[in-house]
Amino acid sequence: MKKNFVIGVDIGGTRVRMGCVDATYRLQNTRMAFCSTLFGTENTVGAVCDVLKNYIRDFKGKSDILGISIGVPSTLSRDRKTIISTPNIPGLDNIRLGEIVEKELGLSTILERDVNFLLYNDIERLKLDTSGTVIGCYVGTGFGNAVMVEGNLLIGKNGTACELGHIPVPGNAERCSCGNFGCVETIASGRKLSELRDAYLPGAEMCEMFLKHYPTCGFLRDFIDYLSIPVATEINIFDPDYVILGGGVLAMPGFPTGDFENSIRRHVRKPAPEKELEIVYASDDIYNGVRGAGIYGFKKLMARTKKEEE
Ligand SMILES: [Zn+2]
Repeated sequence: MKKNFVIGVDIGGTRVRMGCVDATYRLQNTRMAFCSTLFGTENTVGAVCDVLKNYIRDFKGKSDILGISIGVPSTLSRDRKTIISTPNIPGLDNIRLGEIVEKELGLSTILERDVNFLLYNDIERLKLDTSGTVIGCYVGTGFGNAVMVEGNLLIGKNGTACELGHIPVPGNAERCSCGNFGCVETIASGRKLSELRDAYLPGAEMCEMFLKHYPTCGFLRDFIDYLSIPVATEINIFDPDYVILGGGVLAMPGFPTGDFENSIRRHVRKPAPEKELEIVYASDDIYNGVRGAGIYGFKKLMARTKKEEE
């Protein structure tokens, strides 16, 4: 029987999202589970398996499913089997999550960094040519980054490449969620924006930060410049064909896209790569990671099936 769907799963710090992605990369049957009932329990992995079992039972089509593709906000081993470190979710580190889910649910399972799935989703949606270099910078609670070179994700020697949020910044003594001090993520992330709100504009709504306060608040203009530093750094390293910018912070009402781009350009080397810089934007959809998981899952699982048939 033809396997028509991949279950895409996006495990976040506050919720788990899932959906069915078909071979034309259309997403359906989306579902969200909140983590307060999932994590913090003794058995995070068991809770994830239960959520998936329930989802598949309700979807009623296991025979129709090619496999499961799970995105995690973690660093992974080079073979993509072991979760090395997940600062925001207890109970996932040093776990071979893909293998456990595969065994528990009886379905082929793929594990990958959540930002890599965002990149796959954007490349597919924007129909970008991947024969060169594509970089993605996603500013959410943290600073997420993904790089594709000649069609392949940049993985690194240990599997932990693209931790761009953790480049050190001189004079910054703040402790990062990774355990180090002075990482750029501590001054360029949604987490920092909410700290700035608490310090300078207590009581202000987060959704009004840029819309109402950006033009008059110097600390917000500094924040935009800090955000541009890791992006410009990576552009200077890779001279990429495309730069994808996205994430919850950029999707906030009134986010000063023009000033952000100007800051990036100010820090990028001239004349190239600045002159030919091609910046594109991610769409704002909470299920982008799920769809990206499905797209990547289809590519990987079809290749795996083909190999097995040979
Ligand atoms: Zn860090």
